[in-house]
Amino acid sequence: MRKTIMPIITSVILMMTACTSANPDEENVSTAAQTETESTVTAITYEIDPSKPLVALTFDDGPNITTTVQVLDILEKYQVPASFFLVGNNITPASADVVNRAYDMGCEIDNHSKTHSYMNQMTQEEISAEVNYVSDKVKEITGEPTKFFRPPFIAVNSDMYEAIDMPFICGAGCNDWDTKVTVQQRIDNTLNQVTDGTIILLHDSAGNSQTVEALDTIIPSLIDEGYQFVTVAELFETKGIEISGDDSNLYTVVQ
Ligand SMILES: [Zn+2]
Repeated sequence: MRKTIMPIITSVILMMTACTSANPDEENVSTAAQTETESTVTAITYEIDPSKPLVALTFDDGPNITTTVQVLDILEKYQVPASFFLVGNNITPASADVVNRAYDMGCEIDNHSKTHSYMNQMTQEEISAEVNYVSDKVKEITGEPTKFFRPPFIAVNSDMYEAIDMPFICGAGCNDWDTKVTVQQRIDNTLNQVTDGTIILLHDSAGNSQTVEALDTIIPSLIDEGYQFVTVAELFETKGIEISGDDSNLYTVVQ
């Protein structure tokens, strides 16, 4: 089986000038993101060759107008897709433009809850409200609801599996939310864990420049090792795993 992902969308994104962020986390706004720019987004094109080992890059805790933008620039540089698990409270008019860019590039937009809280301490109604908020926001932006869910803090229970109609994704992480973890440790810990079907878990939180720097080595190293980068949905599809709301697994490697 060979599958060709054709260029689907070309669009123009106008970055807003002098964005004033409502999010106090986004103090270190890069000047690049604040400058009025006009760019054409071209979809990343690639053929999925199932004879190659597959790997899915995923990013948690965005979107924002700083680090998420830098991650997209790296993905564009190497022409590889990724999947972004958004926190609903980080979606603002400005960061929604960044989500649009990611989607138009061919990245997947997934669900990491509205408030990034311990959802295993919530009622089923509260759990549903958390994920529906993100899914509805993403549908407003891209036209598509989210397909996969990553539990905040990877804390899960049976109420969550009952209330959430998406497969749960964990992933191979390197504690890159911790500023004390060096760029080299991020590179080494990630590369050491990757096998065919691995979902890599990283963070595009505002200011996480060490992960942006690590990516500039992680991606070309895996390309050199023969890995094919795919979105999480493409990983499931290529491995023949149904994307089902009844799925009660927590995926790190999809085989
Ligand atoms: Zn998170």
